[in-house]
Amino acid sequence: MKTTSSRPQSTARSPKTTNGRHNGKGGVHRGPTQPVPQVSSKVSSWLARPKHNLIDGQWVPAASGKTFASPNPADGSVLARVPDGDREDIDRAVKAARKAFERGNWRRMTPSERGQLLWRVGDLLLEHADEFAELESLDNGKPRAVARAADVPLAADLFHYMAGWATKLEGSTIPISVPYAPGARFHAFTLREPVGVVGQIIPWNFPLLMAAWKLGPALATGNCVVLKPAEQTPLSALRLGELLLQAGLPEGVVNVVTGYGETAGAALAAHEDVDKVAFTGSTEVGKLIVRAASGNLKKVSLELGGKSPNIVFQDTTNLEAAIQGAANAIFFNHGQCCCAGSRLLVEKVIFDEVVSGVAQAAKQIKLGPGLAPDTQMGPLVSEEQLNRVTRYLHQGKQDGACYVTGGSRSGEQGYFVQPTVATGVNPRMSIVREEIFGPVVVAEPFTTLEEVIPRVNATPYGLAAGVWTKDIAKAHRVAAELKAGTVWINCYNIFDAALPFGGYKQSGWGREMGHEVLELYTETKAVVVNIS
Ligand code: NDP
Repeated sequence: MKTTSSRPQSTARSPKTTNGRHNGKGGVHRGPTQPVPQVSSKVSSWLARPKHNLIDGQWVPAASGKTFASPNPADGSVLARVPDGDREDIDRAVKAARKAFERGNWRRMTPSERGQLLWRVGDLLLEHADEFAELESLDNGKPRAVARAADVPLAADLFHYMAGWATKLEGSTIPISVPYAPGARFHAFTLREPVGVVGQIIPWNFPLLMAAWKLGPALATGNCVVLKPAEQTPLSALRLGELLLQAGLPEGVVNVVTGYGETAGAALAAHEDVDKVAFTGSTEVGKLIVRAASGNLKKVSLELGGKSPNIVFQDTTNLEAAIQGAANAIFFNHGQCCCAGSRLLVEKVIFDEVVSGVAQAAKQIKLGPGLAPDTQMGPLVSEEQLNRVTRYLHQGKQDGACYVTGGSRSGEQGYFVQPTVATGVNPRMSIVREEIFGPVVVAEPFTTLEEVIPRVNATPYGLAAGVWTKDIAKAHRVAAELKAGTVWINCYNIFDAALPFGGYKQSGWGREMGHEVLELYTETKAVVVNIS
C-alpha cells in the first residue's frame, strides 16, 4: 500500500514495455487480432499539452514545480506528466474554494441556473464521449468500448440527474408546541444549505465516473470543491475541469489538484478549512481519512472496499444467465470494482456445472490493450496492483486453493492477470476474506439458505451482493437478511444515478447517488420565528 511507502517520487514507476503475444491459462492473452488503433489526434494533442492543476479558475503548475508521470498500464509508456501537488497546492485550492463559497457568484446563482450549468456539463461530456472513453482507456487500461458504453454515459447521466435536484432542495414547515411557552406562537421551518468547502478524494478504477459521483451532488447542493484524483489516473479529471469551466462554472468552485495520497490527499483530509471530505478507495485509507478529519471534526463520507457474495440457488430461472452474471460480476473492469462479486456461492447440486461455466467464460475473455477493438479485459491499473493481485494468487495456492483456470500473471509485459476461478477454499484463506481487487473469484458450495446467509455475512465488509433464484419469497428473504448496501436479484452490477449506493459495516459511511446523497452535502438549519 502506498500509505507506507517512502514516495513521493517524481518519475514514472513503470518499466517501459512493448506489446507482445502470450498464451495464458485463463483468458486469451494475445496481440490484438486487429491492429491496435493509434491514439486519436484529438487525444494525443491534448496529452502533449502541459498539464496543470485547476485552482481558482486558472491552470497552474504545482507550487514545487514538480511533476510525476501517468503511465499507460498496457505498455508502461508515459502518457503525460501531471503536477505533483502537495500541501501548499491543497492550501491554495482550499483558499480558492473558500473564497468562491463565501464571496463568489456561485452563492448568488439561482438554483435553476446551477441546475442548467450541471446539465451543460452532462451535455458536454456526451459531446466529448469518444475522447473521454479513449483517455480513460489509455490511463486506466480498461477497454475503450467499455468506457464508451458505461463510464462516460453514466458520468453524463449523473450530472443530468443531479441537475434536476438543484431546484428541489426543500426544507419543511414544522408545527411546534413548545410546552414551556404557553400561549406563544411560532412559525418554524427548515432550510437546506450547502456544507461549504468539500474535499473529494477519488480512486483509479472508474476515474471519470467517480469524479462525477462526487462533483454532481456537491455542486447541485451549492458546495465548492477541491478534487484530488488518483495518482494512477489523473487525466480525465483534468479534462473534466476544462469542461466545467467551458460550462460556465465560476472560478474557484471546483479546483483539481493532482498529487499523491500521502501528501496531497492527506493534506486535504486534514485541512482545517475543509468542512467535509468525501472519499472512495480502500478501507485502510478510509480509516486514515477518518483520523485526519478529526482535527476539525469535518464531516466524512466513505465508499470503501468489499468482498461481495454472489449466491446462486439451484432453482435459478436461467442457469446460463446466472453463470454469465457470475462471470460479469467478477470480471467486469478486471475485477477492479468495489462491488465485484468476488465470492461465488453455489448450491451444491449445481456447483460443478456453474464453476465450469464461469471458468469457461474466463478462458474466453480476450486480454489486450484497452484501445484494441477486440479487447475484453485490459491490464490492471498499475504494477503495484499487479503485484498485489499476484501476491494473493500465490498465497491462495500456498493455502491449498485450486485454480480451475487462471492463477497467475498473463505474459511478462504490461500488468495483465489471468481471469481466475478458485475452488477448494475455506474461510481462513486470505483470498476468501480479503479484497483482492483483481479478476479473481473464489467459488464455494453451500447446502441451505440458513447455512449460507451467516457465512456470507461473516465479513467486515457489506457493500453489495447478488442472488440468483426464481423463488420470489426466497429472493426477498435473502435480500432482507444480507448485510449489504445493494442487493441485485437475478442481475449484477446494475447502477443508476437514481439508486443509492454505499456500504454497511467497513464498506463505508453514507450513500452516493439517488436523493440520499444530498444528505451528505447539505446542512439542515431550523429557523423559528416568534409570531405571537
Ligand atoms: P487507496 O485507498 O490508496 O486510494 C484511493 C485514493 O486515496 C487515491 O486518490 C489515493 O491517492 C488516496 N490516498 C491514499 N492514501 C491517502 C491518505 N493517506 N490520505 C488521503 N488520501 C489518500 O487505494 P489504492 O490505489 O492503494 O488501492 C489499494 C486497494 O484499495 C485496492 O487493491 C482495492 O482493494 C482498494 N480500492 C478500493 C476502491 C473502491 O472503489 N472502493 C477503489 C480503489 C482501490 P493516490 O492514488 O494518489 O496515492
